[in-house]
Amino acid sequence: MTYNLNDGATRVIQDLKELALLTSDGGGAQRVAWTAFWQTARDWYKQKAEALGAEVSKDSAGNVWTKVEGESTEAIVIGSHLDSVPNGGWLDGALGVLAGLEALRRYTIDGKKPKKTLYVVDWADEEGARYGYSCLGSSAVSGSLNVDELIGRVDLNGVAFEEALTEFQVRPEKMLHAHQEFLKRNIKGYLELHIEQGPILEKEQKDAACVFGAAGVERHYIDFLGQAAHAGSFPVPMRQDAFLAAAEAALEFREIALKYNAVCTVGQVQVQPDVVTIVPGKCTISLDMRTIDAADLQKMYEEAQAVTEKIASANGVSVGWRKIYSVAPQLFDNQLIRLCEQAVEEETGEATKMYSGPLHDAVEMAKVVPTVMMFTMSEGGLSHTKEEHTPEPKLQVGIRAFLRLVHHVMDCAF
Ligand SMILES: [Zn+2]
Repeated sequence: MTYNLNDGATRVIQDLKELALLTSDGGGAQRVAWTAFWQTARDWYKQKAEALGAEVSKDSAGNVWTKVEGESTEAIVIGSHLDSVPNGGWLDGALGVLAGLEALRRYTIDGKKPKKTLYVVDWADEEGARYGYSCLGSSAVSGSLNVDELIGRVDLNGVAFEEALTEFQVRPEKMLHAHQEFLKRNIKGYLELHIEQGPILEKEQKDAACVFGAAGVERHYIDFLGQAAHAGSFPVPMRQDAFLAAAEAALEFREIALKYNAVCTVGQVQVQPDVVTIVPGKCTISLDMRTIDAADLQKMYEEAQAVTEKIASANGVSVGWRKIYSVAPQLFDNQLIRLCEQAVEEETGEATKMYSGPLHDAVEMAKVVPTVMMFTMSEGGLSHTKEEHTPEPKLQVGIRAFLRLVHHVMDCAF
């Protein structure tokens, strides 16, 4: 019997709805990692996978691996995450895992072994919603996790990281063992389907796209130091207003973003002393800059620094930068990108390609294995909210394209 892609995509959507019903409330999806609802989602998934005859196991970092053995031990991994932010959407993460489940179904349906071994991995704690560390499980597998940063960290209720994980049989000091466990699996490629979480595909009227890489990030705090003074007695030209300098800088960052076709965001502003009748003596803003081009990212960073110096001196204040986080752009694997473009083209008529602004588990995996991602469009660009949605016909297109990609990768010499 030939496999029907339409039926496959329909089953994925049915599964997504079933999971949403099981693990959402009026506010949206509540599958925060290391909580009971998350475990409910994982138990539900495990039952479905085992019903297909797949073998389910957990690694030292709490990632759930589902395996269907192939003729060859060479393996392909499909991954994403069942965990959500609080009040999250029905597709973020779950789409990728349940599309993987359908791939397992496809290769177990006729009792014949697939050519390659196929794994589906449900990464533990992609969102970092409780302890602020994104891509926790996948960074343990890639080996980049710095677990010392997390020991002693507490959630909003004062529960320590190590305490929460122990409840789920994960020992923080052993999480990095998952890297060795991964290396033993003979994995040749990693594939991830995800919603775009942005407005670009919708604006361009595309349903799906091959994702060829993920943006690099420069994230800093910028402190402007002026002089607090009485709002009534100080003439404007004599002020050292730290907020005005920060505000001018924020406008310049917008120009830098537009110039490089990149994104710059000032998401935080702290004014001191934060009093209605006092000229701000200090203002701290955050800056998050992202683009796929490493050279551009460096230039953006340098230009942003230069412009803050200029603005500071024009306003009679001083300026200092403090790094929060930075990561280089990550390009995915060329051969997998070609197969992914082909799959998107077969389904949509066009080989649409884009890069990801947000980080994903795939970015961690790309450090250790050839990787590619695929996006489906997001209605209104919304995610991390219960309004997150992709209309079903468009979701169908994305899932079908992804299942095609899996098939190409399972079939070809890779
Ligand atoms: Zn996600």
